[in-house]
Amino acid sequence: MKALVYTGTEEVIYRDEPDPIPATGDDVLLSVDACGLCGSDMHAYHGLDARRVPPLILGHEVTGVIQSGARQGQRVIVNPLLSCGKCSDCISGRSHLCASRELIGMRLAGAFADYVVVPESSLLTVPEGMDIAHASLTEPTAVCLHSIATAERVLHRPVSEARALVIGAGAIGVLTALLLQGKGCTDVYIGDTGELRRKTAEKHGFGHVYDPLSNEPQSNSFDLVIDAVGSGKTREASSRLVRPGGVICHIGLQDDVAGLDTRKLTLQEVTFIGNYCYTMADMVAARDAIHNGSLGNLEWLEHRSMADGASAFADVHNGVAAAPKIVLFPATNFS
Ligand SMILES: [Zn+2]
Ligand SMILES: [Zn+2]
Repeated sequence: MKALVYTGTEEVIYRDEPDPIPATGDDVLLSVDACGLCGSDMHAYHGLDARRVPPLILGHEVTGVIQSGARQGQRVIVNPLLSCGKCSDCISGRSHLCASRELIGMRLAGAFADYVVVPESSLLTVPEGMDIAHASLTEPTAVCLHSIATAERVLHRPVSEARALVIGAGAIGVLTALLLQGKGCTDVYIGDTGELRRKTAEKHGFGHVYDPLSNEPQSNSFDLVIDAVGSGKTREASSRLVRPGGVICHIGLQDDVAGLDTRKLTLQEVTFIGNYCYTMADMVAARDAIHNGSLGNLEWLEHRSMADGASAFADVHNGVAAAPKIVLFPATNFS
């Protein structure tokens, strides 16, 4: 098969690779229909993710068709976060915290390829008529839904009445802003230092768009701050912008530099929540939210062929990709 292989820092190569073979009884072979390019794939590309060791096929935001076993022919979305299903976290509905969790495209081969092998238990069906690229957005949408749900448990008011701010207009920031709007939140701000991303955000109505470097909104004014970047600077900004008694959700993992104002968090009783991934229930809710139109028409997604995957990585790296999300299609499936 053809696959887009991460071979070393800032290098991905589209080349021939052996077809993957199902190893255990639960494994099925999937022909890939589409796979989204994630910020975490970029993190690997930059050589900053010790867990993703080259040569490796990246990609985990995948939808495809089952090619083996009893469900052969079904179109499915993959929950790429695999867990043991037996530990106390898994049994209590917190499988994302499973100590033996694995992510497809991290140590296991990913889905920037014609085929990928996945456990059958990790699959969700694609509803009739759902767009393939939209279906591939289920995994990042689940990340955002999970984050909003954790915030809702501690917010003082319904999300619809909250003043919300999202830092970062990449896919996670954009999807979060759209989900908040879908929940009736009319006061959503979204900031990004990238001019192209701000233009896209303005064009598609992702919220009140601002440049953090020149016109940051008023300090102490947001009930909910979602940090979809996760850098020292954005943690500083989150601390500054959140209201007393407000909530900060931290989804990004850009760097480990300090920045959180723990003194303000304490004195103003701000809740800080670290968010990681999702459960199968979040994946189902995400798929349904996309399918029922809660995120709008999604026409800001960009489609490219996996054969041109190297340019997609390079464009995101160079800040010249206007779309918050690029979805890659196997060359045979791309028109
Ligand atoms: Zn992802
Ligand atoms: Zn477990």
